[in-house]
Amino acid sequence: MGWPVSHSLSPRLHNRWLEHLHIDGAYIPMPVHPSRLEQALRALPVLGFRGCNLTIPHKEKALSIVDEFTDLARRVGAINTIVVEDDGRLIGNNTDVFGFQENLKAAGFKSHVDMKSATVLGAGGAARAIVVALQDLGFTDIRLVNRTREKAELCASALKQKDDIRIFEWEQTTEAMEGSKLLVNTTALGMKGQPDLMIDLSPLAKEAWVTDVVYNPLITGLLRQAEEKGFYVVDGLGMLIHQARPSFHAWFGLEPHVNQDIRNYVLNNGATSL
Ligand code: NAP
Repeated sequence: MGWPVSHSLSPRLHNRWLEHLHIDGAYIPMPVHPSRLEQALRALPVLGFRGCNLTIPHKEKALSIVDEFTDLARRVGAINTIVVEDDGRLIGNNTDVFGFQENLKAAGFKSHVDMKSATVLGAGGAARAIVVALQDLGFTDIRLVNRTREKAELCASALKQKDDIRIFEWEQTTEAMEGSKLLVNTTALGMKGQPDLMIDLSPLAKEAWVTDVVYNPLITGLLRQAEEKGFYVVDGLGMLIHQARPSFHAWFGLEPHVNQDIRNYVLNNGATSL
């Protein structure tokens, strides 16, 4: 459920997994106006749904509608997955945190003692899940850079553990990246139809990691520049695919595959098998 939702790649992904695992089911995109979210969610058990995913702008509001939510969802302040229990209760979870971490790990990222500083661009819903993911990976110096300072302050005050989050103005992006081991773009900049994210990556630490939540295009201007400068680069498609795994498992009890073919299939590049 989202508003709008037609752009979502999730139906393509989940339906492919359902087909591959011979599960008689369907994952359908539902445009739901924000004023109708509660009615739509309450209809899920009656209509026979095992659950749903939520995307912009429903993730935060849904938290106040479901019957229960996980500790992780409470920490992030948003849910992207709902499971319908046998008795009709709705349980909310946040799998974006897992999706972000798994995407990095699948690319070979290992957190260790040197991996303390990360710079996060943006302070919206995606950034919240990513800040929590970074905290749980052991990052203790998280530099949050956002165009609108108040939003960064809200994000930091909701999520900070001791003094692990520092806020920087958008104009201070260079300073915020100084010596950072990981850079994450969580803004929509670089997405098809949006301006590119124009920043100089030189201040990052040597051998830093650069990742983008934007996956259309797959290699954003930011990632291209990072590749050219020799940084480790991780695209945003993996986050989308990995966040879907725990949801699928919770609804259908089976673990879906993640491999290059599913990535190609989701991108519609013509791969024919998982
Ligand atoms: P959101 O809550 O609306 O937040 C958008 C963020 O982008 C805000 O921090 C906003 O800054 C910033 N921003 C927007 N336009 C900007 C501009 N022109 N210059 C500078 N900053 C700008 O959205 P969201 O839920 O965080 O999603 C953000 C992006 O992540 C979307 O493209 C979404 O599709 C993608 N996403 C991808 C995945 C994945 O699995 N790969 C998962 C979740 C989201 P202000 O506060 O100043 O407005």
